[in-house]
Amino acid sequence: MRLNKGLVISAIALASVLTLSGCTDSGASSASAPPVAEKPTFDPGTTMAKLSEAGKITIGTKFDQPLFGLKGPDGTPVGFDVEIGKLVAAKLGIKPDNIEWVETVSANREPFIQNGQVDIVVATYTINDTRKEVVSFAGPYYEAGQDLLVLKGNPEKITGPEDLAGKAVCSVSGSTSEKNIQPYTTNVLASDTYSNCLGPLRSGEVVAVTTDNVILAGLADQNAGEFEVLDKPFTKEPYGIGLKKDDTEFRGFINDVLEQSFKDGSWAKAWEATAGKVLSTPKPPTLNRY
Ligand code: GLU
Repeated sequence: MRLNKGLVISAIALASVLTLSGCTDSGASSASAPPVAEKPTFDPGTTMAKLSEAGKITIGTKFDQPLFGLKGPDGTPVGFDVEIGKLVAAKLGIKPDNIEWVETVSANREPFIQNGQVDIVVATYTINDTRKEVVSFAGPYYEAGQDLLVLKGNPEKITGPEDLAGKAVCSVSGSTSEKNIQPYTTNVLASDTYSNCLGPLRSGEVVAVTTDNVILAGLADQNAGEFEVLDKPFTKEPYGIGLKKDDTEFRGFINDVLEQSFKDGSWAKAWEATAGKVLSTPKPPTLNRY
């Protein structure tokens, strides 16, 4: 009897350790470790030549989105977006240690690219025509869809955006999510980051948080037992790598890197080392070399 009880207790202890490590793992593990190209050559004057010669690149990403871009214990971010950034750097001959990671939130991605604060942005960044007026995009390298995050058990019985009329919802300024939700409710609390929407959801100030399903899945996983994703995506959000507008050679180069990663398994490896800890592995999308 005593032994049984002991076993049960250690089983519970082990389960919580596994759950805990599962949670931190999905954010903290990185390292799909793409091979770094040795002394690659590029046409003089191109962005590739400039970055490769400098031996460093500045990449904008999210710092608070588990699975895609989450600041790890050593200060550098981890996640699928981060791994995609490392794949691009590797083909320029730049080691992960020589990447400077800069936090970008939804609203400052275009200005950070335009004013040269970052060389590229890999940050759950939807490719769309409005943004293409000021920046260019390689990709897509993933396709997400907008969804809703509610309290566990769904106390408000929300089945989709149609149920949000007159209700308060949290989203983020400068995101497609904030725009896409406007037809359903005028009561939108615009935060700077999605993680800052969780407090208002917990307190009942809003009934839902809305953005891409994979961002919401990461937040739900990070706060196990508190929230659930409806899992009824109602938009298409093709993720691109943002770069300076009309840098056609650089865009073509990044598209080549992505295409190769789709084929040689490094894309899938990057997924499995990060978002794949929680989500099943998708098929790579079709590139849009516009
Ligand atoms: N993918 C959407 C966007 O680029 C929502 C996620 C985000 O804000 O990063 O606006």
